[in-house]
Amino acid sequence: MKFQPRASHFIDGEYVEDTNGTAIEVIYPATGEVIARLHSATPVIVEQALNSAKNAQAAWAALSGTERGRILRRASDIMRERNYDLSVLETHDTGKPIQETTVADATSGADALEYFGGLAASLTGEHIPLGGGDFVYTIREALGVCVGIGAWNYPTQIACWKGAPALACGNTMVFKPSETTPLSALKVAEILVEAGAPKGVYNVIQGYGDVGASLVTDPRVAKVSLTGSVPTGRKVYAAAADGMKHVTMELGGKSPMIVFDDADIENAVSGAILGNFYSSGQVCSNGTRVFVQKSIKEAFLRRLSERLDHAKIGDPMDENVSFGPMVSENQMNIALGYIEKGKAEGARLIYGGERIDRDGYFLQPTVFADVTDNMTIAREEIFGPVMSVLDFETEEEVMARANDTEFGLAAGVFTNDLTRAHRIVAGFEAGTCYINTYNLAPVEAPFGGSKMSGVGRENSKLAINHFSEMKTVYVSMNDVEAPY
Ligand code: NAD
Repeated sequence: MKFQPRASHFIDGEYVEDTNGTAIEVIYPATGEVIARLHSATPVIVEQALNSAKNAQAAWAALSGTERGRILRRASDIMRERNYDLSVLETHDTGKPIQETTVADATSGADALEYFGGLAASLTGEHIPLGGGDFVYTIREALGVCVGIGAWNYPTQIACWKGAPALACGNTMVFKPSETTPLSALKVAEILVEAGAPKGVYNVIQGYGDVGASLVTDPRVAKVSLTGSVPTGRKVYAAAADGMKHVTMELGGKSPMIVFDDADIENAVSGAILGNFYSSGQVCSNGTRVFVQKSIKEAFLRRLSERLDHAKIGDPMDENVSFGPMVSENQMNIALGYIEKGKAEGARLIYGGERIDRDGYFLQPTVFADVTDNMTIAREEIFGPVMSVLDFETEEEVMARANDTEFGLAAGVFTNDLTRAHRIVAGFEAGTCYINTYNLAPVEAPFGGSKMSGVGRENSKLAINHFSEMKTVYVSMNDVEAPY
């Protein structure tokens, strides 16, 4: 098998296997063919990985930030050099078109390694002068062993978005990819070693939820960063709380995108397409509730349908293909179930709605119009190519309806009214907001959610605070005054 890795796990700088672990079959979503067979980590493997990360941590943290950063930046260069091969692997792991993976996966992983590699040398504490000559200085310290747990939609990116800031701060990591897409994180681990990372600094072990759970509860672990669904986030957050561990939770969403009648319609349609159909709709921050002002509703829907006719659906390895399969049969069936609910609850299906008659897990890009706030498709995260279009009349009304959700990951507004745009984003209850665009997530900017969509932020300088802590040192220059 062309994509079979040398072994399932990467621990202490080497590939490691334990065939006693539950089988994991890696399926190419475009054909249904098995492209690799791996094993879930046994307790022996979990133990090996945590020991390796624990043993490597002090020496890694003792390097200068410049040295750690150099290794991360070298890893970034290697990733860029191998972008095409890594993209082919990512396409086979996830089914996402090569047109996307060559620009959004290894490249964004490389961005994170480069950005945090660049920051590593500048991470410091501060000096705080006090009265009478006393002062405090703070020391920025690594947390220790960090666990990263990934979702299946952006496997390379997630492995790097968690690994790069963790390593920059002097932590070591045990990363568990999603069981659906286990291949590319192994390549990230290989590349880091090739770039000079000491063994044990970044380990990858495979497994289902039980393996993730055993990592989260281990007393050697100081921090858990999860990308996944809200139900998993609840469990992981609760388990981490028991051990008072640091957490970052990047969870699901049902984000609103508001289109006012003064917006540039082409741009708004482009935003709605990117925010609903990129990666076959399997993006956490998608703007799946598209609120369109009533006066432009029919024009918007007409233009959207015309543009969707140009989606090129097919073999994701074909560079002209812009819309590929969903990641798995299971995920496709979940989306089909929501489409049935949409129809049953009275939404108007205006585009797609069917499985495509070919091998693999292809679903048509699907649009429902006349969706109302209480319909299931407007309330629950679908995580597939299903857009709900809702009408609205006034700004006040749409603001309240946009925020009427337990989620708070992202939100967007399309309007040419400058003050309204800023008023709207100020009112959004969401971590990541967009004005006249959608779904961009550059490494320089914080990314994350509020409400049930998460805790903490990835990327940007803020991620440093989530992977390090401050030690406060009070220095007295005076005699100690005691009351007796
Ligand atoms: P999931 O919650 O099913 O699984 C996520 C990961 O958690 C997997 O690796 C899984 O094995 C692991 N896991 C499951 N149960 C666990 C447990 N009890 N303890 C520890 N680990 C456990 O999510 P998924 O289906 O892989 O991914 C889709 C979800 O991820 C969607 O809800 C999507 O919105 C979300 N997501 C969020 C972001 C973000 O940045 N906010 C990005 C991508 C995906």
